[in-house]
Amino acid sequence: MSFAATILTLYPEMFPGPLGISLAGRALERGDWSCETLQIRDFAEDKHRTVDDTPAGGGAGMVLKPDVLARAVDTALERQPACPVLAMTPRGTPISQARIRELAAGPGVTILCGRFEGFDERIFEGREIEQVSVGDIVLSGGEPAALMILDACIRLLPGVMGAPSSGTEESFEDGLLEYPQYTRPQEWEGRTIPEVLRSGDHAKIAAWRKARSEEDTRLRRPDLWERRSGARAQPASGARQKKKDLDQ
Ligand code: SAH
Repeated sequence: MSFAATILTLYPEMFPGPLGISLAGRALERGDWSCETLQIRDFAEDKHRTVDDTPAGGGAGMVLKPDVLARAVDTALERQPACPVLAMTPRGTPISQARIRELAAGPGVTILCGRFEGFDERIFEGREIEQVSVGDIVLSGGEPAALMILDACIRLLPGVMGAPSSGTEESFEDGLLEYPQYTRPQEWEGRTIPEVLRSGDHAKIAAWRKARSEEDTRLRRPDLWERRSGARAQPASGARQKKKDLDQ
């Protein structure tokens, strides 16, 4: 079954864009996923094809109109009734690898891309739409965010990536960052690959990787580390202790 991506955008020419090459591009050619765009402007009903208007209460920029958005969303839902609708917005829930996995396991996804100051808030009351952010940054439009979400889903589709394990032994899959990687040459500018990785001792290598994974997560991403510690129901004092370690 093919993963159906539907993108509601003012810039349909941005798709499939970078997803038309490499792994995702070959998967698209094979039909592992499909990419349909709907031009939001086509759902405007006035003769100027207006999609936006000035913000209520004043302020800079323009806001996408709820009536136009609703017609676009309803059309997407008619075409792909089983696909969840995601709106790209910095006000949304930060996307996670866990959510990406769920989406990739489903029939596809419909993505609503904002522009200007974003969406009239009532669209989220009037339609079932999941508000999703790709991080604490502000993009000029939802399209690059949609490409990110789609890329992350597509690489998980069956048959898209070479080795089946390469999708599961990754950063975030178990709440940790991945361990650091090395490849030849054995020595580069006087720096060598950690000895253990050349030992051929698989148990030792696995133990080293696990330790580095935990260490790097603790140092680089205390937020992930604390969440993981919390999930393992460690006492609060344990979490505080770890934070203290980090400060030293
Ligand atoms: N005024 C809005 C930002 C609008 S940016 C605010 O401050 O919340 C214009 C569009 O870019 C948004 O409608 C959204 O679709 C997209 N966008 C910007 N940053 C994003 C992010 N971090 N995640 C997802 N989409 C984003």
